[in-house]
Amino acid sequence: MTQETGGFAAFNLNPNILAAVIATGYEEPSAIQQQSIPIIMAGHDMIGQAQTGTGKTAAFALPILHRIDPAKREPQALILAPTRELALQVATAFETYAKQMPGVTVVAVYGGAPMGPQLKAIRNGAQIVVATPGRLCDHLRRDEKVLSTVNHLVLDEADEMLKLGFMDDLEVIFKALPPTRQTVLFSATLPQSIRAIAERHLRDPQHVKIQTKTQTVTAIEQAHLLVHADQKTSAVLSLLEVEDFDALIMFVRTKQATLDLASALEAKGYKAAALNGDIAQNQRERVIESLKDGRLDIVVATDVAARGLDVPRITHVFNVDMPYDPESYVHRIGRTGRAGREGRALLLVTPRERRMLQVIERVTGQKVAEVRLPDAQAVLDARIKKLTNSLSPLVADAESTHGDLLDRLTVDIGCTPRALAAALLRKATNAQALTLAAIEKERPLVPNNAPRGDRSDRPERTGDRPDRGDRERRAPVPLAEGRARCRTALGARDGIAAKNLLGAILNEGGLAREAIGRIQVRDSFSLVELPEDGLERLLTKLKDTRVAGKQLKLRRYRED
Ligand code: ADP
Ligand code: MG
Repeated sequence: MTQETGGFAAFNLNPNILAAVIATGYEEPSAIQQQSIPIIMAGHDMIGQAQTGTGKTAAFALPILHRIDPAKREPQALILAPTRELALQVATAFETYAKQMPGVTVVAVYGGAPMGPQLKAIRNGAQIVVATPGRLCDHLRRDEKVLSTVNHLVLDEADEMLKLGFMDDLEVIFKALPPTRQTVLFSATLPQSIRAIAERHLRDPQHVKIQTKTQTVTAIEQAHLLVHADQKTSAVLSLLEVEDFDALIMFVRTKQATLDLASALEAKGYKAAALNGDIAQNQRERVIESLKDGRLDIVVATDVAARGLDVPRITHVFNVDMPYDPESYVHRIGRTGRAGREGRALLLVTPRERRMLQVIERVTGQKVAEVRLPDAQAVLDARIKKLTNSLSPLVADAESTHGDLLDRLTVDIGCTPRALAAALLRKATNAQALTLAAIEKERPLVPNNAPRGDRSDRPERTGDRPDRGDRERRAPVPLAEGRARCRTALGARDGIAAKNLLGAILNEGGLAREAIGRIQVRDSFSLVELPEDGLERLLTKLKDTRVAGKQLKLRRYRED
């Protein structure tokens, strides 16, 4: 036993699993792995609470692989994950850890892909099934016996599954499994709804709680920048000039914003792409692969599309739009600083969002320092540094290969070497602004013009604060395609905030967060953008929903 493998070797896992873990390059088990693996190996039910990036996948995958019987060609373990990306990631991890276990197969079951091959893989004897709850229920409707041999169940990111409206599906799945099975639940948070599930469906569970919040966050340097909503794109472009990043993920709230920002970045020559729920599954996988291998450097994503995304190259997270709550902030910035690496997270804050910034600081127990937009001098310095870095390796042997040509050209053209070098530089830099004066002229933002007072407020793309009153006239905002605007008579004077409406619609309507568009809370009413597809059904579902003690009574709203 070498020193590096000591930690994992102590679990007495099946030697083939241990060998695969060592081959993966893990040295020591993480805290959640250290505590969970023995409990799960011993067959106990367990509730594990830990933040993103703490290594939960191996914490359940290794002991479960240890407990299955590779000789039995039937489903033995079921892992439920909130999204397709996450299900695929967990399935891939299982495959990695099972690489040296002949006969063990893993199947990923998720929506957006044909059902036939998934069912066939299960029937062909895959021992491990990794699934999203919705699609698994579709399979159960076709064959209710399909899970009858499963004796290990894992709920991964249980809080996210509930937020995405999978509660009813989970109940259906619980019923389809043998009651004697082992059940393990992982969640970043343990709200009452999760505890209720644990009470009903886990037997005498052991609790493991890892307080990594501060640790996860301290590896990440955080900063915020005050900016008006309509200046976000130019602020992002300025920040990119001076941030020394490898790969970067930007978070925005809407699908449209992923597309708009990604094309603005591409137009400036960045290798950028959008990632949102509308993008086809195979295309999404291609985007993530490209980010991993460097064909892309920037991905602009919504929360749901980026959930579980794990790309070690990511050095920076830009929160271009504010997250809806501190938990998603922690989730988002957890995309960088993976596995103990350093990372940097920047948050753009509009004047009205300053209160949310304070909440984030309170919940994470950290101050998020304020930074200003780089001034022209900083941009110039950064551009010259980049130019120096790209040219200096070329200088070494250029004289021997092109020196004679230079001599000849200066004679032919009749210019000095300095004039010729300058002309070549202008060409090589695509006439990029490389003097203070030129940079000042090209920059749309006066440096350090961050808004200070609420007075200068402008309408925001996503209104998430009560507006000051109905008299405030605003230009009509065009609806995104496929969205319908709905109205409720509840408004700010009823004590309603956008997050209450959002929460109610998410919980009762069973929608994904990004399915809900702009929410505007006015004094005496509120407007919510909802998917046109299935709207009538949704409104019926929400018929008896109450918010702040009052009936929501959401109706389609037609402007005249
Ligand atoms: P979580 O599910 O808690 O967000 P993951 O299981 O996705 O975390 O793991 C995060 C990253 O850490 C992955 O890239 C994984 O390969 C890596 N990792 C997990 N355990 C270890 C370990 N013991 N040593 C090194 N890296 C690890
Ligand atoms: Mg995970």
